[in-house]
Amino acid sequence: MELLEERIRKDGNVKPGNVLKVDSFLNHQMDVELFSEMGKEFRRLFPSEKINKILTIEASGIGIACIAAQYFHVPVVFAKKSQSVNLDGEQYITRIESFTHKRVYDVIVSKKYLGKGDHVLIIDDFLANGCAAAGLIDLVKSAGAVVEGVGIAIEKGFQEGGRLLRSKGVRVESLAIVESMDDQTGEIVFRSQN
Ligand code: 5GP
Repeated sequence: MELLEERIRKDGNVKPGNVLKVDSFLNHQMDVELFSEMGKEFRRLFPSEKINKILTIEASGIGIACIAAQYFHVPVVFAKKSQSVNLDGEQYITRIESFTHKRVYDVIVSKKYLGKGDHVLIIDDFLANGCAAAGLIDLVKSAGAVVEGVGIAIEKGFQEGGRLLRSKGVRVESLAIVESMDDQTGEIVFRSQN
């Protein structure tokens, strides 16, 4: 998606350790008009009328998923990263290793909001090693629901996640795929997509 690539080129910062910082429009301050264009593009890429729910993970996926949901006319469920008093009843739980925080989380969804008969589109901000997406897929499967696809804002194509998920037959669509990035020069190269 040209608009997103341009924005990453303009405002993204490459940090050591393969981290792309996009705090000014996606991960801290959020450009809602850009999110809206991203939402339209997710709808174009996932036209299936079967999708009845979007699943994401707190925190950074929530804004993107909510704006996208307006084009799907479906609710958003976000997986929680910690137990809270607001979580009651039975839950699906899986473990996810965080790429940015280098620790392992339990992620939790209430059984009330995911179940058999659901056709779920998973949306997240980044795809790196694929742990977050794999964990969300695991939650959907535990619920007996169907994964219709995984929609990602920014995939780092030089990390394993995209290849792993696609090799398992998961439909992964990323709005921008970073082929390489250099924290010395700041150069970011995108994979060309149709
Ligand atoms: P994965 O689980 O695929 O290794 O990593 C995906 C998760 O880690 C995303 O939910 C995202 O929050 C975070 N993440 C991974 N790589 C980056 C990155 O380069 N920049 C930022 N801002 N977040 C990242």
